[in-house]
Amino acid sequence: SSVLQLKNVHKAFSGVPALAGIDAALSENSYVSLLGPSGSGKTTLLRVIAGFEQPDGGEILFSGRRIDGVPPHERGIGFVFQNFALFPHLSVAQNIAFGLENRAVDPVMDARAVATKVRDMISLVGLSGLEERAVTQISGGQKQRVALARTLVTEPSMVLLDEPLGALDANLRTRMRSELRTIRERCGVTFLHVTGSETEALAMGDTVLVLDRGRIAQSSDAGTLYSRPASADVARFLNCYNIFSGAVSGDAFESPVGRLALGGVRQTSGAPAYAIRYDRVAIRPRDATTAGDEVRIEANFVASEYSGAAINSFFTLDDGRVFEVETHLSHAAPETFEEKARYALVWKREDALVFV
Ligand code: ADP
Ligand code: MG
Repeated sequence: SSVLQLKNVHKAFSGVPALAGIDAALSENSYVSLLGPSGSGKTTLLRVIAGFEQPDGGEILFSGRRIDGVPPHERGIGFVFQNFALFPHLSVAQNIAFGLENRAVDPVMDARAVATKVRDMISLVGLSGLEERAVTQISGGQKQRVALARTLVTEPSMVLLDEPLGALDANLRTRMRSELRTIRERCGVTFLHVTGSETEALAMGDTVLVLDRGRIAQSSDAGTLYSRPASADVARFLNCYNIFSGAVSGDAFESPVGRLALGGVRQTSGAPAYAIRYDRVAIRPRDATTAGDEVRIEANFVASEYSGAAINSFFTLDDGRVFEVETHLSHAAPETFEEKARYALVWKREDALVFV
């Protein structure tokens, strides 16, 4: 069942809408990613859920109960800020205990009970041995864990995290992804994790909510989002599709680079567009033959770059735009292409998505 439901939630600043009718339901005991570009309303949505900001309209239900008028500290919702917001003059343990000692809804808790909870939490987030360390003397990843522990120790029913990995370097960011998922599984509460990174959202969320200009453009599991984006805008934002504008005409899509034979999945949504995933495209010599169920265009090779287990190759099309191809190294030995030479880019008709 749902831990949080949002119904037509609106919020404007000086008449400019930041949230333009948000509808969403978040399952209990799940990891939810909220993905959106800068300025799409992610922080505003978290602040409205937490109660730091009043919505102009709509309903927020927490475990089935309306919480619109409930003050933030009585909502049972934890908030982890991007900059961690730790108290620099306090130790790791003192920072975590602070969350407990200042909880308004708390019955009086004796010092020993506080110490036990703090110790358990330190172990849960993997900070054992660092209890007495000043928070100015620990790494970014450790600060992140302190911030999380300080929130979790209050036993919230849900935790909101605003770009929690944004302040960490790239290496640590990737490691903290699985740490955050593990910590969440151990404590069993729903995490709502805000990010502007599609790879982070797809890697972490059991469910991914895509926020576009103050509206939820899609809500689905990562696999569905990746293979069936609900609109060309979502596909564009996922950063793994080549997208052409144009129009359907008979059994083809008229694009700026010519007619692309249809046969792919058609979806109804806004402006017409044709989309083919980077990793569904094969690079062939220009004179190679093309099968009847394939679509073929020609383009000039620009450059390749390695990224982990894949190579991303960039081409320019005849209208000047860049076309990207992702080749997984498990599928093919690395090939080298000749700069500025012309190649055939080929994909199966059925692999394309057509938005009409
Ligand atoms: P995100 O977190 O996705 O980058 P925000 O929620 O911070 O987006 O902002 C969404 C929009 O609302 C932006 O246009 C931003 O300028 C505006 N906004 C956010 N907070 C305020 C505020 N306190 N006062 C005025 N405008 C705001
Ligand atoms: Mg923000």
